Amino acid sequence: MPRVSLFAYDWSDLILPPHAFAHTLMPSFPRHRLALAATLLGLVAAPTLSPALDLSGLSKDVQPCDDFYAFVNGNWEAATELPASRARIGSFEQLRQANDELLNRALKELADKPELQTTPGLKLIASYYASGMDELAIEARGLTSVAPLLNRIDTLQRREDLPALLALLARGGVAAPLGYAVQPDRKDTRRNLLVLGQAGLGLPDRDDYFRSDERTRGLSAAYRTFVKALLSASARPAGDADVDAVLAFETQLAEVSRERAKLRDPNASYNPFTPAELNAAAPGMDWPAYLAVLTAGAKLPQRLLVGQPEFAVRVAKLAAETPLEVWRSYLALRVLDTTAPRLPKAYANAAFEYRGKAITGLQAPAPRSEDVIQQIGGRTGGEPVALALGELFVARAFSPEAQRRSLALVEDVRASMKERIEKLEWMTPPTKARAQEKLARMQPMIGAPEKWPQFEGLQLSGTDYAGNWLKVALWHSAQQMKDLDALVERGRWRTSPHIVNAFAGGLNQIIFPAGILQPPFFDAKADDAVNYGGIGMFIGHEITHHFDDSGRNFDAGGSLTDWWTPADAAGYKARADKVAERYGAISPLPGYNINGRLTLGENISDISGLPIAFEGLQRALKRSGGADKKVEGYTPAQRFFLSNALVWRTKVRMEFLINQLRTDSHSPAKYRVLTPMSNTPYFGQAFSCKPGSAMVASDPLTVW
Ligand SMILES: [Zn+2]
Repeated sequence: MPRVSLFAYDWSDLILPPHAFAHTLMPSFPRHRLALAATLLGLVAAPTLSPALDLSGLSKDVQPCDDFYAFVNGNWEAATELPASRARIGSFEQLRQANDELLNRALKELADKPELQTTPGLKLIASYYASGMDELAIEARGLTSVAPLLNRIDTLQRREDLPALLALLARGGVAAPLGYAVQPDRKDTRRNLLVLGQAGLGLPDRDDYFRSDERTRGLSAAYRTFVKALLSASARPAGDADVDAVLAFETQLAEVSRERAKLRDPNASYNPFTPAELNAAAPGMDWPAYLAVLTAGAKLPQRLLVGQPEFAVRVAKLAAETPLEVWRSYLALRVLDTTAPRLPKAYANAAFEYRGKAITGLQAPAPRSEDVIQQIGGRTGGEPVALALGELFVARAFSPEAQRRSLALVEDVRASMKERIEKLEWMTPPTKARAQEKLARMQPMIGAPEKWPQFEGLQLSGTDYAGNWLKVALWHSAQQMKDLDALVERGRWRTSPHIVNAFAGGLNQIIFPAGILQPPFFDAKADDAVNYGGIGMFIGHEITHHFDDSGRNFDAGGSLTDWWTPADAAGYKARADKVAERYGAISPLPGYNINGRLTLGENISDISGLPIAFEGLQRALKRSGGADKKVEGYTPAQRFFLSNALVWRTKVRMEFLINQLRTDSHSPAKYRVLTPMSNTPYFGQAFSCKPGSAMVASDPLTVW
């Protein structure tokens, strides 16, 4: 599904922008799976050949107290070349590729041997994968698989049919111009609610429609070429005037689209309406007619949320006034853009030229299997059948030992956070008590779900890639509408276990998929310092998300509730403002600063997550008595920071970096090392840095 950027808080993740949603605990798996895991991933093999902490690249020219990122990663960065097919490489990317390669082998086997397709999920992904790899079948089908959508667009003649068409497209996974989701009501998390939000733009950011710098002009030109390619390949009017009209239409949407930083405010996007109220507030479109098709026969919701009402007002105005000819071009473009990677080469190649080359700087596409796996599962594992990939992955690469030890790490880090809250000087006891309650009730979800979804009613073809995608979207839409009438299922996983990422979920949950519980982030054979500097810091980061500038608005049950005294809220805001200002002054590239407001939640989570994990390590060392034990010549404290700098090592293309700075809520990796480390006294102590060193902030940022 295309990402809909209205779900401001419901997910915060470690390395990529939020997407889906989840929750639950501890599965138990048969023993043979563990054995398989050991052989395939080396999870149980002794790491004699590849040390847990690879210190071979430490720089002799840079001092740890001057630039710790360069000290640890400088040599690696200098010696590492980005392959043509990668926009970013580093620890996360390396493990993702390994997980994808494992999945690719397993999928091939699964597709070749029907007798291995023993569950509904495995059956589905065997067909889905086979259809994605069958490029001849994709060429042969042309656009026939998406014709049900395109024909409806091409035959749109009456304005009153437009609301139903927009709703049909939304159900088919094409968010144009509005996206939808069914998710727990933030103010009553027992119930599900329909949410509508802004979407439907082809440039990466709403600001790209108004900026005039050189980079934006280049992007605009590439986008025009892309639009032309898609329209002309599908035999639609594709002259300059036609492209101008579509871009002017998108610009009108962009005008009222909220900036990304503003989308992070969970209160600002909580706008309840009845269908009748929406009709009155956003005149020009028959909203009940739209909702009737969107909910497809389910009971019409009496109440829904509109993330950005000003956007809905504009959509309704355009529905009433814009020539249908422009609507037809715009909607066809959105269908083709959304489905291009699953269509014949004329479309898929155009999409690569724009989304791969122009936006992220790629020179060549990644192996097709990786793209197919991503199309099935999504970048953050939130696509509707992604969990079936997780089912396959976990059967081959799951370590109950990693799961058990990660849970122990969570409890150490949670205990440290508890102590920090107790000691906070600026917070009063009533607010502290609420914070402690929230921390105590936070639910860790580690590894994989206990049960796998059964995907009732969904069947896929082995030769119809785009058709499968459409079927999945329609099926998912129907499932979501069933959820509308049901109570929220708190234990449901909404991200797949094969993903290399971690999440803070909207129901006061933290999620660590099996995919990330592997070296270099977690290594069962490594000393505690290495694991607390890796996965331990991620745990601190995700816990802190529930207390970042957005997360702090939610209570122990995950409901949007103000549990702060006004004075404590003001105290928090002053500290958060300082974080935003400090990061906002950083220029990773000349002319491009970090957006301090967009990245605020991530930065607060980094700044607090690191020392909390460090304190968690002290608990583990106290138990084991290893506080003074040097390993490979380094103290545990030093190894903690070395491990952390290693897991963040990343090399990116310039285009990727610019796009990240403009659109992503995460700061570039280098600053996720330098800023949190220089703002915690533990770092300076570990490496005996003198006051005034670059790695010792003179006025340290602290929030928690
Ligand atoms: Zn995060």
